[in-house]
Amino acid sequence: VAFAIGIDLGGTKIRGGLIGEDGEVAAVDERATDASDPPNSVLAQIVAMVAELGRGHDVLGVGVGVPGTVDARTGTLVQAVNLPMREIPLHELIATRLDADVTVGNDGNCAALGEHRFGAAAGTTHSVTLTLGTGVGGGIVADGRLIAGARGTGAELGHIVIERDGLPCQGSCPGRGHLEAYCSGTALSARGREAGFIDAHDVLARADARDARALELLDDLSGALGAGLVTLANALAPDVFVIAGGLGDAAAHLILPTAGRILREQSLPPNGEAQLVPATLGSDAGMIGAACLVLP
Ligand SMILES: [Zn+2]
Repeated sequence: VAFAIGIDLGGTKIRGGLIGEDGEVAAVDERATDASDPPNSVLAQIVAMVAELGRGHDVLGVGVGVPGTVDARTGTLVQAVNLPMREIPLHELIATRLDADVTVGNDGNCAALGEHRFGAAAGTTHSVTLTLGTGVGGGIVADGRLIAGARGTGAELGHIVIERDGLPCQGSCPGRGHLEAYCSGTALSARGREAGFIDAHDVLARADARDARALELLDDLSGALGAGLVTLANALAPDVFVIAGGLGDAAAHLILPTAGRILREQSLPPNGEAQLVPATLGSDAGMIGAACLVLP
């Protein structure tokens, strides 16, 4: 079996794995992200992790998923989310430190690739994955290949407009009314606090206990997600939509029924027939998908 190393760089932790070409996770290494001196502190962690994971194995290459916009033509991290890094020639910096083939990509795109090849969308041709977490990301895979535009910076599915002049978006995004402003864990926590809850986790727990206000908040979130799915279904007509990410994994049973109904009722036929399913790789999706950037 051939192996690749996948690294999922996040704002709070770095998760790396030795991944077989059959999707097997042969080894995992996870560390708290050292953001003391980026990018150098982070690069040192990635190098140490690759050395640890690859020891004794013939490794085809290293894929790195990063939380931000990556220009695929140059491997430059244009701007990170949750890490103070911008305009960093990440591919060059990692490749010169490692004796290996290196590919750098967006974390949501990596999760989409992982779910497409080895997760909930395995066996399909066209899949679209949405990662609902602190923010909202995702990816589009067609015939096994990521579709992300001329520079690889597209497929930012959390930043499609679902409400003109709607809520301001999160982080450094200048937009308004984007999906992320309604469907992220951050958004659910904010709405939850306004309604007297502690955070998004509290809203989910109370929704499971059939609390009416919590269910109303999740109904709003599901409606926004459904609107996003209709837009994506009509633009891309995938076989399947996969809902991934920390919030997506925790809340799938609460939000997929309503979002799926809107997808079926409001898409131009037959685009609403796309399946809507929860992710299956959990927190390994980004790491496995990063390895898929270099697996044959
Ligand atoms: Zn946005």
